[in-house]
Order: sequence, then C-alpha cells, then structure tokens
Amino acid sequence: MDTLQNTDSLLSAVAPAEGAAGREILDPATGEVVGVAPVAGVAELEAAIAAAEAAQPAWAAAGHEARSAALLAAADAVEAHAEELARILSREQGKPLNGPNARFEVGACAAWLRATAATPLEPEVVVDDGETHAELHYRPIGVVGAIGPWNWPMMITVWQIAPALRMGNAVVVKPSEYTPLSVLTLVKVINEAIPAGLLTVVAGGREVGEALSAHPAIGKVMFTGSTATGKAIIRSSADTVKRLTLELGGNDAGIVLPDADPAAIAEGLFWGAFINTGQTCAALKRLYVHEDIYDAVCEALTAYASQVPMGVGLEEANVLGPLQNKAQYEIVARLVEAAKASGARVLLGGNPDADQPGYFYPTTLIADIDNANPLVAEEQFGPALPIIKYSSIDEAVEQANGIDVGLGASVWSSDKAAARDVAARLEAGTVWINAHGAVDPRVPFGGAKQSGYGLEFGVEGLKHLGVPQIING
Ligand code: NAD
Repeated sequence: MDTLQNTDSLLSAVAPAEGAAGREILDPATGEVVGVAPVAGVAELEAAIAAAEAAQPAWAAAGHEARSAALLAAADAVEAHAEELARILSREQGKPLNGPNARFEVGACAAWLRATAATPLEPEVVVDDGETHAELHYRPIGVVGAIGPWNWPMMITVWQIAPALRMGNAVVVKPSEYTPLSVLTLVKVINEAIPAGLLTVVAGGREVGEALSAHPAIGKVMFTGSTATGKAIIRSSADTVKRLTLELGGNDAGIVLPDADPAAIAEGLFWGAFINTGQTCAALKRLYVHEDIYDAVCEALTAYASQVPMGVGLEEANVLGPLQNKAQYEIVARLVEAAKASGARVLLGGNPDADQPGYFYPTTLIADIDNANPLVAEEQFGPALPIIKYSSIDEAVEQANGIDVGLGASVWSSDKAAARDVAARLEAGTVWINAHGAVDPRVPFGGAKQSGYGLEFGVEGLKHLGVPQIING
C-alpha cells in the first residue's frame, strides 16, 4: 500500500461516523481539505470519562513493568506509521516534512514514549533511623485531562499522555480545534498498543476544555497553551481542587555576550528563533546583542536566514512553513508593521506577498528596535525576530527579566563560565548556553513566573502524574 493511501486510511479511521457532526480541516499552506474531524461536545466528553474510569483500575493494578511494556509497544506502533503521521501533521499544521519539523516531531513521539517507559521511579526512604521508617510513594491519580495547543500537536500530546499512562492513569485528551486530525490519528495508532478505554480524544472546542477542567472525575489537568487560557483553567478547576501542570506562553530572551563569535553562533541563533517557523513556546523571541558585535551578529544572522527555504510542507526542500492559522498570521503582521512604523530597521522580510496562497509570512529580522516595542514586549509566535542592542550586561539582564513570563532563555558566549554567571541571573525555567530550545526526555522542563508551574519529563515529570503518599511505620 502506498503512503498516501495509508494516510487516507488513518484519516478515514478517525472521521466522524455516518450522520455525526464533522468539520473540514484545511491545509494552512494551500487551503486544500486535509480531512474531516468529528465535532465532539460535552456528551462525548462524559462518555470518554466514563470509559476512562472503567479502564483505569486494571491498568493501575497491572504495575510499572506491564505499563512500560505497553508504552514501548506504542512507540513501535508510532514508528510503524511514522511517514503517514508525518504527512498528516505536515498538511494539517503546515510544518514541512523535513528539518526540525514533521518527521522530527513524529520521531520525538516515539523517543518520548520509550524514554518515559525507561525512567525508573522507586519509592524513596525519607527517614530510617531505627525509630521511624517513612517512605514516599506515588499512587495513580485516576483520570487525567490533557489539553493541548496547535504548534507541536503530536509531540505535546505525547509529553502529556506518556507519563500519565506510565503512572497508572487513564487520559482524556482535548486537542486544539486547529489540529485535531494530528492528535486523533496519533492516538488511534497508540491505541493499537494499550487497553481500550484508557486513552480517548474528544475533539471539541473551548467548551469541552472548560467542562474537562471543571469535571469532578478528572483528578489532574495537563495543560499546554497560552497564559490567558491557563488562568481560565486555574479558575474552572478550583472548585474540584485539581492538580495542574501548566506549560504556558513565553517570550524568551537570548543574550549575546561581547566575546561571542558571530559566524559560529548564527546557525544556532537562527534555529533557536525560527524552529517551527517561530511557533514554538520556548523559541528565542527577543535577541539582545552587545554593541561591540551588534552589526556583525546582524550580518551573520541575515546571511544565514536569507537562504533557508520556506514553502509548502510536502515539498521535500522546504524547512520553514506557513503560520498555522489566520489569527496567528495577523498577530505577526500587526507586530511587524508596528515595529516598522516605529522606525526600526528591517534587515530581512517584513514584506508578505498578498498574492501568495496560504498563511506564509517571510522570515523577518528587525534591528535597531526599542525594548518597549510591542514586537519585543509581546509573544509574536511567528517568524519575526527583534534584535536589541545593549551596552552593559546589567542592562541586558534587566531587560530580559522585565516581563511577566519566563519559560526559556539563552546566553551566547565563547566563555562558558561567564555565560553560566549570566544564566543564573535570568528568571526563566531553562537557560541554554550557546543553544536555545533543545529539550530532552531526561531533563525536566517547566516555566517560571506566568509561564506556568509543574515540571514535565524525566523522573520529575513522572512524579507530577502521581499522588504522593507517605507510608510511615
Ligand atoms: P490556547 O490557549 O489558545 O489553546 C490551547 C488549548 O486550550 C486548545 O485546545 C483550546 O481549545 C483550549 N482552551 C481554550 N479555552 C479554554 C478554556 N477556557 N478552558 C479549557 N481549555 C481551553 O493556545 P494555542 O494558541 O493553541 O497555543 C499557543 C500558546 O501555547 C502560546 O502562548 C505558546 O507559548 C503556548 N505553548 C506553551 C508551551 C509550553 O510548553 N510552555 C508549549 C507549546 C505552546
């Protein structure tokens, strides 16, 4: 069977049943129909929660070894369908097949399933002094809700569901209304490897997310999305005192120290900022460069950025794609126009082609821009990077810390010790040195300030999907 046919068979496997409500999903690069997603509501949510409650006790009783084996089998299933999943993701989300995009994202799904299966979580002896013997264990929570965004829809779903399943929970997933097919088809494949009822996708809108966050049978919500929605979830989950992991918006700063080598860091800076065409929570969104090397960094970055191909995702040469949706396109266009109107200097891009189909916004670099400019102060979440000149490290640190979110940050220097000193002063959940945005299933990840709370990945991530219990005696 050829790949396209397989793609079609996965898409038809998740299409609405005869007579049920459906919604056409359009490719953001071409406007073509990718497939039809079911339109689920609160009734489907109730059915999914009931199935989850029924399936969860046996799954919890199966133990870590059996659950890890099932996650490994799920990783195999994802790999067996990798190319079809990557094509669906590329057409629905817009990201190209190649580069750090669709094939990479599907590969990360399998890698995270495997790493989560392999992470040990032993009971911890907290005190053992002859009189007191106290151990810390983690029990399953029960049914976990997973609400996700549209930028990395498959990978973020796995980040949420893999530790939840591993810890003996069932999961109900509410995907973004922009990318339901990616999540439905991924979960369809994962469900080949785990018991029925444990993992269900309810492809509805915001009202399903609200109902999930307020539902008394949901013990925890894993949420990745905007800070505004995170605040709404805190409110709607309050009456049931739910546990929450909130991975929210960011507006990451990168600081280039005066001793950095512009030519050596240009590629890393570019991908730190433009991965997934800038639609990444922990992407570099504000670049602070010391005045001594400001022009050289602008030049090196422009030279690198101007040769990176953008276009329709299914064309193998492309590594940058369109914005995923019109609303996001309009945010980026508005912020760049405001920057231009303020007198900032356009080094590259800033000139979208109105006749081009799809939500393509060109790779844009803006220099000589004020720190208070909206393109710097707001999360642009697209392919437009402002480059701000600074003269003292204190000033750069103050500007980097001067906003109310703190997901990631980076420091770029030829002197690792100097970079680490600056890193320690930055109010961010992760600070990378000479890189930006790389994640690893063994290394905890989470935000500071209004970028959220709770940690994902590694043993810390598993602990966040369990209820701590002390056994004393
Ligand atoms: P969003 O907040 O608009 O939507 C996320 C999800 O929340 C969607 O599934 C949506 O239907 C649902 N939702 C909307 N209103 C809700 C409500 N009142 N109650 C419950 N659910 C509701 O976010 P988005 O636009 O899809 O994603 C982009 C944002 O996500 C950016 O701010 C980005 O920085 C952030 N993000 C953060 C991380 C991270 O790890 N910190 C990762 C990816 C994206």
